[in-house]
Amino acid sequence: MRENAAKNGFETAQTRIIANERDDNLELMKRIAIDMDEVVADTMRRYLDLYNSDFGLNLTAEYFRGRHIFEAIDPEHVSKCMEYFHRADFFAEIPVMPGSQDVVRDLNEHYEVFITTAAMDVPCSFTAKFEWLEKHFPFISPSRIVFCGDKSIIAADYLIDDNLRHLRNFRGKGILYTAPHNVSDTEFPRVSNWEEVREMFLG
Ligand SMILES: [Mg+2]
Repeated sequence: MRENAAKNGFETAQTRIIANERDDNLELMKRIAIDMDEVVADTMRRYLDLYNSDFGLNLTAEYFRGRHIFEAIDPEHVSKCMEYFHRADFFAEIPVMPGSQDVVRDLNEHYEVFITTAAMDVPCSFTAKFEWLEKHFPFISPSRIVFCGDKSIIAADYLIDDNLRHLRNFRGKGILYTAPHNVSDTEFPRVSNWEEVREMFLG
């Protein structure tokens, strides 16, 4: 930015100060990218509430150990369950992952924190996801919310994510957030709750 401003002849004291502050921050602060679903948002809890209610069941997260949702449920239920993600109220009602607000707020004081969510999986979710983040994580600037597909584009030092596919594509240090589907994996360092995230990054 600064080079372009100078080259174009319109660098001012103000753009110079902003550029310097930005450079200083980048040098001082490491950048953490944090996934949304199953990491700060308890999407599984919301999904199970709907599924159990619709089909008269009482499944818990334990039932899904080592399996993704659609591998584990009755194949005849899959099409109806796919519709959940397209319901207007699905994302709005997702509970916050316990402890995540306090820890992300504290991380935000010491790191550049970004929320990076693979929203391309359900493009109609953009607005609902943004509103959910604004409501529950108002201290994260909208400029640090990233809706993406392939997370290899994310330039951060760390990525906290429950999805192995995203961690494998990421170029920084990947940290696996425990979810029922990934409990057996040993490929990445693991955190199982937000207090463990606090311990890892803030000691
Ligand atoms: Mg996720």
